[in-house]
Formats: sequence, C-alpha cells, structure tokens
Amino acid sequence: MKQIHHLVHGVTREGTSGRTSPVFDPATGTQTGELHLATVDEVDSAVASASAAFQEWKTSSLALRTKLMYNARQLVLDNVDEIARRLTAEHGKVLSDAAGEVARGIENIEFACGVAELLKGSISSNASTGIDVKTVRQPLGVVAGITPFNFPAMVPLWMIPNAIACGNTFVLKPSEKDPSAPMFLAELFQEAGFPPGVLNVVNGDKVAVDRLLTHPDVKAVSFVGSTPIAKYVQETATAHGKRVQALAGAKNHMVVLPDADINMTADAAVSAGFGSAGERCMAISVVAAVGDVADPLVEAIRVRTEKLTIGPGDQADSEMGPLITAEHRDRVASYIDQGEADGAAVVIDGRKNEFDGDGYFLGVTLLDNVTTEMSVYCDEIFGPVLCVVRCETYQEAIDLISDNVWGNGTAIFTRDGGAARQFEEDADAGMVGINVPIPVPVGYHSFGGWKDSLFGDTHMYGPEGIRFFTKAKAITSRWPNPADSSVDLGFPTNQ
Ligand code: NAD
Repeated sequence: MKQIHHLVHGVTREGTSGRTSPVFDPATGTQTGELHLATVDEVDSAVASASAAFQEWKTSSLALRTKLMYNARQLVLDNVDEIARRLTAEHGKVLSDAAGEVARGIENIEFACGVAELLKGSISSNASTGIDVKTVRQPLGVVAGITPFNFPAMVPLWMIPNAIACGNTFVLKPSEKDPSAPMFLAELFQEAGFPPGVLNVVNGDKVAVDRLLTHPDVKAVSFVGSTPIAKYVQETATAHGKRVQALAGAKNHMVVLPDADINMTADAAVSAGFGSAGERCMAISVVAAVGDVADPLVEAIRVRTEKLTIGPGDQADSEMGPLITAEHRDRVASYIDQGEADGAAVVIDGRKNEFDGDGYFLGVTLLDNVTTEMSVYCDEIFGPVLCVVRCETYQEAIDLISDNVWGNGTAIFTRDGGAARQFEEDADAGMVGINVPIPVPVGYHSFGGWKDSLFGDTHMYGPEGIRFFTKAKAITSRWPNPADSSVDLGFPTNQ
C-alpha cells in the first residue's frame, strides 16, 4: 500500500507519529494509501525549514523567481495527465473534470509568472522639494496553506505560486482524504528549481493545523474548507497575531427569469449542479425559478439529468463519479430522506440508482417545491442534489440570496440586459454570473465570497492574493541639495 509522508526541505521526510489515516479509491471503496499524520515536532521542522529558506529567498531576484515559476508552469503542463489521474484515483471526479481542475490551477502559476510587474510598487518624486516617497511590497515570511478535499490540486495552486513569487516560503497542509496530487505538485516545484524549504508539505489532521495556527514563526494562514473550520481557523490564527484569509462553505443560487433560454439554462443547471458530484464550493445547489419558467425548466433539467452516466471517473463515458467517502454519501442520502419528509417533490431520486461494487456512488437528485425552512435548503449538502425553489417575482429570488447565510457565488439566466445589470447590483454574493452558472474568476481577478463564505478581508489569488502575501512599506527620502554634493555635478555651488 502506498505510504504518504511529508516533504520538508526538499526531501521526503518519513512520518514518525505512528498515527495514520487511510486514503481510499472512492470508485471502488478500497484503501489505496496510508497517510502519515504529522506530529507537532514534524510541523515545527517544516516551519524551521521554511524560516531558514526565507532568509535567502526573500532577497532572490525577481528574474530568478520568474524563471523558476515558468519552469514550474512547464512541468505542471507536462504532467497534467498524471496529476489528473491522481485526482481521479483519490477524489473520484471524472478525468476530464480533473484535467480542468489542473488547468484552472495553472492560471495561477501563469499569473505569478508576472510577479515582476505585480511587485513594481509606486513612487512620487518631489513629494516635497527634494523629497521622494515610494511604496514597496515585501514578503511576510513563512506562510501556511490549509486546503480541502474537493480541489486537491487547484486550491493549493490558488495559494502557492503567488505566495512564493512574492518572496515568502510556504508550508502546505493538504486534505488528508486525497493528498497524492498536492504531494506530486510540490515535487514538481522542487524539480523546477525552487530552493529546499521554499515549499514544504506536512500531511496531517487537527494536530498539524492547530500547530500551524499557533506557531510564532507562521505569519499568515490561507485556508479553504467548510464554514465551521474556516471560522475556527480565522479566530485561532488571528488570536495568534497572524494575517488570515479563510474561504468557506456555500449555497449558490441560480436565478432563472421567465425569458431565459430554457435549453441553455437547463444544460448549465445540470453541469453546475451535478458536475464533480456537486462537491464544488461554486456548485449550483438552488435553482430559483421565477414565474412560469418553473414547469418547463424542471422538465428540461429532468430530461437531461436522466441521461447522465454515473461511473468510475477513469471510464471514458462517465460524466459523474462517486462521492468522497461512504459516510459523506450516506449523509447526502439522508438529506434527501429529510427533504422528502419535509414535503419536497422528488422529481429524480438518486437513492434508487444501483451500482456494482463498493464505490461511494449515489445517483443525482432533483427536488422541486423546496422551501426555505427545509434542511435541504438551509444546509450545505455538498453532493448531487439540486433544489428548485419557486419564486413569484425577481425580488423574491433576490431576497432568497440576501437572506441566505452564505454568499459565495450566484448566477442569473435571462435574455434581458437590463435585468442582468440590475442583478449585478442586487446580488448579495462575492462572485456573480450572467448566463454563466459557475462564475469562478480567471487567475488575474480574485476569488472570494461574502458573508459566511469568507472569514477575513482579502479574497484569494489574483491581485488580492498579492496583497495578502505582502506587506506595504512606504519610504520617504531626502538627499542633500545637488549643489552641495562632494561630486562636481556641474551645479553652481552654494558658496
Ligand atoms: P474541511 O473544513 O473539513 O477541511 C478543510 C481542511 O481543514 C482540511 O485540510 C482538514 O484537514 C482541516 N480540518 C478539518 N477539520 C479540522 C479541525 N477540526 N480542526 C482543524 N483543521 C481541520 O473541508 P472539506 O470537507 O475538506 O472541504 C469541503 C468544504 O470546503 C465545503 O464546505 C466547501 O464549500 C468548502 N470549500 C470552499 C471553497 C471556497 O473557495 N469558498 C472552495 C473549496 C471548498
């Protein structure tokens, strides 16, 4: 069985805790790996490696950092298939989806290749006579990243390229459920030529996370995961004097106006609702159907949903893979039980699908006539369950979004430009799509939600990522009058 350890100071460091966590292939239910969970001492040694590396890395030239980032980009590009294979083997998502995840991660490496431009700073000459003021941005030191199971390659790449391009050194704590892809990415960064200690990986659980949140040498924590843990991470790390960005859970609404293109909208709802088995923080989990669009829309979604092929992620015809664990699959199924008991109409029932073998599969479920007090509406299910809430008016749909505790992403489907523009203004969420169901911003814009979808101030990656991983320094300088210079500059002297 594959043993998964840590990567510290550029080499594999074997775990010594004796505590392990199983890694499964969700498509078969078989254990494929054993993850060694870090001790406090092992985390300390990763932070010490990063601290030592910071002393030189912070002064490395922008030219070197850019060159190494280009190397990393090429290596990741050359290995997309292998990274995708690892993602599918431990997460379960279909291979095309896994390759798409890597592509979205590469965008962030490409953004960081422009670090020389991004760190240019600003200068005001002659702010006062003979006085110049400039602002530069400097790295923070050792920064930590703690990442979730659902994007094991992309989310670390939301953080690592910008953090190290800015001159910081990094300690990554990936999800214990699917660690092979992030470990491989870290190896590729070593191969790209980043010096030992610039990027370390500690695998672990709460013990490792808690040490990172409280370690005096960790200056910032970048977290992505569920809302309760995000809140805990933010509270704990800020109490220990760290800068924190903690991206959290979601319940994303897709508003459909009566004039929407039904085919386009139904295609979008199916891919955004059930892609990656609904285990995406930007998945659409609620369709807010306004007015008389509801009946034809539910029918169009039903027809498409019934044609979805569910199977192992490495099979060419699979459009949706299994869920991450057996417990999670059962939890999702229990939400469907509860939704039905609460009076939702089960248009398609994923519980009825039968699958061969012991994989963590569940069919897709479409629930209609969902209301806001039902648990299927209130909770983040994080599975292939799409809820339709029928609204009489646009304003009712807007109120749904505003009243929801989360505000990650939302989208509107309409042919009306004026309505779409109004929605941009009204939507109470950090990322908005207009006829785009999953509006994940490209790498040169930043990603982040509002309300309980983000704890901290700055969004992740893009320009806000650069701000998060650097601190500003303003320098005011005055030089003697050139006329008084000891070097003859050709000025008349003051004498
Ligand atoms: P999770 O919160 O369970 O785990 C995230 C990380 O926190 C993991 O590395 C895990 O080891 C660690 N962790 C878990 N429990 C902990 C504890 N008690 N103390 C300290 N650390 C702990 O999240 P998950 O199940 O891996 O991921 C799914 C969640 O992530 C969903 O809620 C999803 O919406 C969210 N998510 C959000 C975004 C976003 O950008 N907003 C992106 C991806 C995923």
